[in-house]
Amino acid sequence: MLHISSKSYFSLVIFAFSLFNLISKTLAISTDKLAYLNQLDNNNYSTLSKLISTTSPLWKNWKNLLFTLIALGIPTTLFFLKPSILNYIWDSMFNNSSRGNFMNRRRFRFDKKNDPTYQKVQKKGGNIGGLINDGNTCFMNSVLQSLASSNSLMDYLDEESKSKEVDFTIAFKKLLDHLNSKHFSKNHDYKTNPMLKTMTKSPNKNFLLGYNQEDAQEFFQSLLSELESDYKKIHSSSSTTNKTEPIYNTELPSDAVHGIEQLGHLGPVYIPSSQIDPNLQDANLKSSQFNLITPVDGLSAERIGCLQCGEMGGIRYSVISGLSLNLPPDNYSALKLTDLLKTWIEPEIIEGVDCNRCALNAVLDYQTNHLQILESKENKSEKLIDLLKTRIGEIKNELQKPIIDDEIFKKLHTENMIKKCSKAKQILISRPPPLLAIHINRSVFDPMTYRVRKNNAKVVFPLKLDLDPFVAEPNDINTDARLPLSKKVVHDLQEENEDVQDEDDDQAQDQHNQSSSSLETPEGSEKQDDDESEKQTQESLKTKTTELNSDGSDSDLDSEEEEERTYPTNSTSIPTTIEKQDLSGPLVYALRSVIVHYGTHNYGHYIAYRKFRGVWWRTSDETIDIVDEDEVLSAPGVFMLFYELDSLSKEEEDLEDLENEVQDVKISGESDEEEDNEEEDSKSDNELEEEEINDESEEGNNLAQTIANL
Ligand SMILES: [Zn+2]
Repeated sequence: MLHISSKSYFSLVIFAFSLFNLISKTLAISTDKLAYLNQLDNNNYSTLSKLISTTSPLWKNWKNLLFTLIALGIPTTLFFLKPSILNYIWDSMFNNSSRGNFMNRRRFRFDKKNDPTYQKVQKKGGNIGGLINDGNTCFMNSVLQSLASSNSLMDYLDEESKSKEVDFTIAFKKLLDHLNSKHFSKNHDYKTNPMLKTMTKSPNKNFLLGYNQEDAQEFFQSLLSELESDYKKIHSSSSTTNKTEPIYNTELPSDAVHGIEQLGHLGPVYIPSSQIDPNLQDANLKSSQFNLITPVDGLSAERIGCLQCGEMGGIRYSVISGLSLNLPPDNYSALKLTDLLKTWIEPEIIEGVDCNRCALNAVLDYQTNHLQILESKENKSEKLIDLLKTRIGEIKNELQKPIIDDEIFKKLHTENMIKKCSKAKQILISRPPPLLAIHINRSVFDPMTYRVRKNNAKVVFPLKLDLDPFVAEPNDINTDARLPLSKKVVHDLQEENEDVQDEDDDQAQDQHNQSSSSLETPEGSEKQDDDESEKQTQESLKTKTTELNSDGSDSDLDSEEEEERTYPTNSTSIPTTIEKQDLSGPLVYALRSVIVHYGTHNYGHYIAYRKFRGVWWRTSDETIDIVDEDEVLSAPGVFMLFYELDSLSKEEEDLEDLENEVQDVKISGESDEEEDNEEEDSKSDNELEEEEINDESEEGNNLAQTIANL
């Protein structure tokens, strides 16, 4: 996305206004002059001299010149030297207009000393750092602030920045450390330039308009690829490539991590090869390796399979660095994040696809029929019967294999026996990452105007998100495509709406255990014949929950869930309340930061909310405020969400609290200690600060000089 941002737009308007002023002044003078000239003999004047004589009054009239210079000079000087001033004006304009409960916000900049929350934050280190807007850089600043709130990322950077070769990782860590350092009551803004310089592909900077306003999500992805390339510089090649040959289980390292074990762990993770390539020799004895590099890396599992015969071409596991959830093109009302996730894991039905197994089954039926006819004839040809029998044997043999590959199929099938089938495509999270980045894709194609628009629908998101309904580890996966991808019952999907958490958890666990034991071998469904109509099989897909609970318990609940599952997006109940639950469980994630986008598809402003030091901060470039949790949860235009594994995020806050209790005595009432506290790389810190101070004083001088010159 390349476009002029609102801020450049704003300053351009000022610029255009000044230019208009200049032109109109010039014209006003020159019309007088022209009127005079017209009275003279035109032949005595060349066009050039006419031009000079018409514009000269402007230069002769010093008042006019002064006015023009001021009108043109001030906005341009401001824009080139201190783009943040315009951004500040813009941001405050936006805040007042788009945020109804402006007065409810706690602006500690103006009223702080007596607030208990402020006192608490002061004890923990006070203000966080701001980021200078260096010309449309809010898309970068919002991502950087968001990431600085992740414990798993900060831990990762601590570890990975130990090597000297990794310029980017070191600069990235340094910047985030700056943001998180203890500023107490002071405000300090940092520059992103030192970090951007270390990027191999940093965002484009335009001389006139600053940075092209880009997508925050794209910038996030480019940060990740920089981290990955740094990682590959210092780690051995075996653990950095993702396509490695399946390994015999006996040859795996003793500390190998399988499936979903040790959540939060990064590095190689093993998945049973039998799911990925069922035709592989000794597939059951082998594992395939996937490498998770950064804390946002997780695994997804996707299955595309035939709804008639159940054959699938192997579960496709891939490393993902977050989720991108689309907003429905036709729904502009409020949506729930959990509903978007439910839509994401819904099976997608693809009609009219060739299926090798179904076709081969049809060939087998035909040949068997043919054989019977031949055998029943009086003067039968033994030779032909033998040939047919060998062929039938071959086909039966091939059908034993889990997957009919294309070559075998070509050899055995008969031209007119291609069968069009329906296939289902379904995806789930197989191993969730320590830090889950969710991108709300608001770009919607408008078929009326052939343009991409922004869907400004409100997305309601919870503070705690239970990923359990959206996760299926390898043991939970059905390889029969007629069954749902996850063996886990859909029951879990409704949990978030119910208050009785504990009972439900137990029930779900029970059902889970029962279903996984009874579904080890999905033979029963395989016996179904091909002549079953499409409708029936699709129906079976929809009613899969009922099938799973063959014990008959909770049948009422199941039918409710079926409805829920079949129509997940047609939100019959539009969420009006903010989701606030206190969930617990191994897959519960806590909200760490939120990126919000104001404006339209082509221009606007990004801000970030981030949790740090026990409170929520609203960061808009240089403007940092402490805000209420409610403001965060009711934020419009949510663009990205960062959820961290609850166990990881809790740990840090507890530790932080402990640490601060210990330091309590030391700090008491002290706010100037920050310089001393930042013992690490204090030298470079000072350098950076000096640089900034110089820059700022230079800007001030320049401005003063410009005005003085006028
Ligand atoms: Zn099939």
